Amino acid sequence: MNRLEKIMKVNEEFINNEEYISYQTDKYPDKKMVIFTCMDTRLTQLLPKAMGIRNGDAKIIKNAGALITHPFGSVMRSIVVAIFELGAEEVFVVGHHGCGMSNINTNGVIEKMKESGIKQEVLDTVRFTGIDLNHWLHGFDRVETSVAESVEMIRNHPLIPKNIIVHGLVMNPETGQIDVLIDGNK
Ligand SMILES: [Zn+2]
Repeated sequence: MNRLEKIMKVNEEFINNEEYISYQTDKYPDKKMVIFTCMDTRLTQLLPKAMGIRNGDAKIIKNAGALITHPFGSVMRSIVVAIFELGAEEVFVVGHHGCGMSNINTNGVIEKMKESGIKQEVLDTVRFTGIDLNHWLHGFDRVETSVAESVEMIRNHPLIPKNIIVHGLVMNPETGQIDVLIDGNK
C-alpha cells in the first residue's frame, strides 16, 4: 500500500467507527486564541497537549520556523482573519529549541535542488525576478531573537488592534516545557 492508500484505509475505519464524534466543534476558537508555531513533527501532538489545547480551542498557524517573513504575507493574513472574523483576542508565538530553521544551510538546500534536477537556468531565472534564494530560505540564528521579532511584527502591525495580547514562548521539543520570553499581559 502506498501512503495515500494507507490513509484512505485508516480514514474508512475512522468514519465507520464514528471516532470523529469526540472531535466535533465549530470554527470559532473556544479559548479565543491563535497559536503561531513551527511545523516541526515533534510538536504535532506534543504542543497542543503541553498547552492544554483541545480540538476547537485555538487557531493554529504553522510554517517552517514559526517565521513571519512578510508583514502582508499569509501568516499575518491568517492572524488578521482569526482576530476579526473568528473572534481571537490573544496570540501565542511559540518557537522551539533545536529548530530545523535555525542555522539552515541554504547553499546545501540549493545544491539538493540541483541534484533533484532543477536546472541552473531556473535558479538564475528566480534570481532575475529579484529573489535571493539564500535570503529567502534563511531561517534564524537564535530562536529567542526570531520569536521576539515575530511578536514585535504582530504588535506593531497596522491592522492589529492594540488590545490584542501577543506572547512570545519557546518550547522544548522533547519535554514540551515552555519558557515565557515575552508575557503579553505585562
Ligand atoms: Zn522548528
